[in-house]
Amino acid sequence: MAWFKREQAEIDASGEKRVKTEGLWVKCDQCRQIIWKKDLDQNLNVCPKCERHFRIDARTRLALLLDDGQYQTEDGNLVSTDPLKFTDLKPYSDRLKRAKTETGLNDAVINARGKLNGKPVIVSSMEYAFIGGSMGAVVGETITRAIERATDEKLPLIIVSASGGARMMEGVVSLMQLAKISAALAHLDEARVPYISVLTDPTTGGVTASFAMLGDLNVAEPGALIGFAGPRVIEQTIRQKLPAGFQRSEFLLEHGMLDAVVPRKDLKAYIGRALEFMAA
Ligand SMILES: [Zn+2]
Repeated sequence: MAWFKREQAEIDASGEKRVKTEGLWVKCDQCRQIIWKKDLDQNLNVCPKCERHFRIDARTRLALLLDDGQYQTEDGNLVSTDPLKFTDLKPYSDRLKRAKTETGLNDAVINARGKLNGKPVIVSSMEYAFIGGSMGAVVGETITRAIERATDEKLPLIIVSASGGARMMEGVVSLMQLAKISAALAHLDEARVPYISVLTDPTTGGVTASFAMLGDLNVAEPGALIGFAGPRVIEQTIRQKLPAGFQRSEFLLEHGMLDAVVPRKDLKAYIGRALEFMAA
């Protein structure tokens, strides 16, 4: 008989979305309570028992932020050219094809325009289900176009991040997007147009290292994983145990990396108030 027993399936390394669906019931991976799926849906995919914020897709996010759930999408026609003809376990082109079928999107971001509390805004919303929301040339170009449109039309910009970082399969082309987007944001700043960055679970790597942290206001959802390198890599590098809650929104707020942590149900009202304040 073993001295100790490890509870099975503790670590979910699949990178797939965290909601475990079994028909009408869902088990919360934080409080381990069983939740009626309808309750979860009605509560904006936040656990009614422990407030765990589950991931939501880009379209749900847009509907949540924009008046009457109405918006027009733009730049959805851009597609990756697979510049390196990259293959790891399987060809990048196959991964793209699969992600397109699964999400109905051409890449990991949706550009939209709509109204937030009656005021026109430009929103870029990232889709984690598309190859981990990774940023290749298409995501970079799409977000840059949203920024340039906001600059030209003097409309407030909101970018909702949900990303594992740069897209490895596009190598240096994906890294170039950090500089490109940051340069466009500098122009937006010169034009004195407000930019609010919303960081959701997870926001890591090159996305954190560029536009996600460059907002006039950087706000995050509760409990979101936000960082550059992952905790395991850091622990191995510095050979120290990291403190509890490291790289979660609340920890980052406490250490001055964020301006606010806002629950999903209050997010729209919060952004609306902030935009009004910035316009004054
Ligand atoms: Zn829960």
